[in-house]
Amino acid sequence: MAKTNASRSGDFGLAAPRGRIFDSIVDVVGGTPLVGLPRMTQEDGLRARILLKLEFFNPLGSVKDRIGAAMVIAAEQEGRIRPGKTVLVEPTSGNTGISLGFVAASRGYRLIVTMPEGASLERRKMLRLMDAQVELTPSRLGMAGAIARAREILDETPDAWMPGQFDNPANPLVHQETTAREIWEDTAGAVDVVVAGVGTGGTASGVAHALKQLKKDVKVFGVEPVESAVLNGDEPGPHGIQGIGPGFCPKTLDLPALDGVLTVSEREAISAARRCARIDGVPIGISSGAALHAATQLAREAEYEGKTIVAIAPSFAERYLSTSLFNGL
Ligand code: PMP
Repeated sequence: MAKTNASRSGDFGLAAPRGRIFDSIVDVVGGTPLVGLPRMTQEDGLRARILLKLEFFNPLGSVKDRIGAAMVIAAEQEGRIRPGKTVLVEPTSGNTGISLGFVAASRGYRLIVTMPEGASLERRKMLRLMDAQVELTPSRLGMAGAIARAREILDETPDAWMPGQFDNPANPLVHQETTAREIWEDTAGAVDVVVAGVGTGGTASGVAHALKQLKKDVKVFGVEPVESAVLNGDEPGPHGIQGIGPGFCPKTLDLPALDGVLTVSEREAISAARRCARIDGVPIGISSGAALHAATQLAREAEYEGKTIVAIAPSFAERYLSTSLFNGL
């Protein structure tokens, strides 16, 4: 890649200074690095080049920082919300809560997050650290219980607003405008395939919309858990790949824009994530492992010989300390 040398600094070849001061933490979102996996590529004898887009370089450590910022900024621009006045309310047990947490704190909004009791302690504490209010709902009601409670709060609270990551057009739009553009520029247009896990579908859809305009034969594949392969016509089911496979087809997913949705098992996702940490020193989360596993399968096929495949890595291994990713370690 032509840019590699320009972005190096000093005798040790580390990243160059960013060349600016950021006014607030929200301004740091995006601009995440694309990183190769040279050792795994060699060990597996892959025919294509796999690049991971490391979304845990975002300030609060996940791809969701992009939509946390975008949904709030879009609503401000539309005059729907005002700092110090509007209360943000979102049902989420995942990374979206944490991302809304830092955006709300830094821009002066009160935030209420509803989540099932089973959600990890680390997430609840991170939200409280950033002054968000966390309302736990009975775990037997699952996410549906958290959604119902968020709707109640919305009705009871004057000037409350729900970002609504599964419906909000700012979600795919921010990926169209930023994630896709970064992939395009950092590969100098050499990207052939993008693989992204589908939760809300915002990442995969936004990237597909933008990249296919720039290069019509770019392929974009979604990834879902084989245990809940709803987009491939199966029934929803329980699975351990947090962040993807919500069990329904969200509004923010433009399925026809994708070239297909690949299925990966929890076991395959975890195995790929562990190998990535062990062999190339990149400790990725479980859904990242799912995207990497799917990318690796493609990279073994003759059709992708010499191609560049970008797999989106939404989060970092450490966010899954209490899950099966760390079993036996
Ligand atoms: N992996 C993780 C860990 C996530 O938090 C998310 C977002 N829910 C995704 C994958 C999927 O991203 P998207 O919602 O854009 O489909």
